[in-house]
Amino acid sequence: MSQTLFTNATLATLQGESGYGLQAQAALLVDGERIAWLGDAAGAPAPDGAEVVDCGHRLLTPGLVDCHTHLVYGGDRADEFELRLEGASYAEIAARGGGILSTVAATRAASEAQLFAAALPRIRALLDEGVTALEIKSGYGLDSDSEIKMLRVAERLGRELGLRLQKTFLGAHALPPEYEGRADDYIDLVCDEMLPRARAAGLVDAVDVFIESIAFSRAQGERVLERAQQLGLPIKAHVEQLSDLGGAAMAAGRGALSVDHLEYLAAKDVAALAASGSVAVLLPGAYYVLRETQLPPIEALREHGVPMALATDANPGSSPIHSLLLIMNLACTLFRLTPAEALRGVTRNAARALGMDGEIGSLEIGKQADLVLWDVDRPAMLSYRVGVNPCAAVMRAGAWHKRGVLA
Ligand SMILES: [Zn+2]
Repeated sequence: MSQTLFTNATLATLQGESGYGLQAQAALLVDGERIAWLGDAAGAPAPDGAEVVDCGHRLLTPGLVDCHTHLVYGGDRADEFELRLEGASYAEIAARGGGILSTVAATRAASEAQLFAAALPRIRALLDEGVTALEIKSGYGLDSDSEIKMLRVAERLGRELGLRLQKTFLGAHALPPEYEGRADDYIDLVCDEMLPRARAAGLVDAVDVFIESIAFSRAQGERVLERAQQLGLPIKAHVEQLSDLGGAAMAAGRGALSVDHLEYLAAKDVAALAASGSVAVLLPGAYYVLRETQLPPIEALREHGVPMALATDANPGSSPIHSLLLIMNLACTLFRLTPAEALRGVTRNAARALGMDGEIGSLEIGKQADLVLWDVDRPAMLSYRVGVNPCAAVMRAGAWHKRGVLA
């Protein structure tokens, strides 16, 4: 078992219920895949044969966790982006085959190899900024074979890149064109065939639904989540993004890992989230790209102690963003999160949103050694700047994936 001793570091441990859990002049020992010791540098153990890394007062944090992405898809929507800015209406774009259904068509047409190759640079952009674990959803296939194809690509990405990855089945993301006007029939297909098949193939770690006026009703979403729970799978939901359908309280009441978006979450439903322990996953990238104006009820979430996570929501339409550092800045600038809340949102609370907080998300003895060394001396630098990547070195499960300044 190899050992690495990080010394002369500023640790943001994320221990405790708030703040960074900062420790200056600290050291951290990695033994094999795990954190074996951390504390004051003066009292650090010095095992024979350990590699000693002098951090030079740089900041050492847990690896970042992107807990909500749609990274696997065919095609892109750059033409639609351009048309819209040249004045085309949504109706005109839809008439030209744009919108989410254009991504569904491109994803159905793509091979597994093509989807894998297209996703690789997107995922690498995240990893290069210190992401060490992430979630990928299906939801652009909308039939059994295509959903399974997407999940197989996600599975291969995790395996080949050596990542801790949650594969989420999102068959109820949009109504496929062949089910136009028959949403309940499609939900039957999701519950009776698509989800059980994907589950039997060992490709589903969690189940998500999109409850919204442009997607599925709360009752339809609840049918899918109920079926997921019958199959023993954790649940989560896209809710209250564009309107308030009460999806968050429903999903939280069922013990969802997370409820995501939440711009239109009613104040009365915040208490339901607090009671359930569900994480509020905020997605400021989609808010920014869609130029939304309704802010999530941040102050109420804060008052009720609901854990808040942040994610890229990386997708070809509403959030073609592959930078969790940019998301931290957007969360501070647009949603008025503090930099400490932003860092918790992409580490500890994001790990909790994936049900992985027992293993990753903070610097604690016994946790997996997913670590990022940043070329900054204070954590606020991570949220403050845009366009500079200070990720200097990355360790995942005790193995180096980037050496940067340490090379
Ligand atoms: Zn999403």
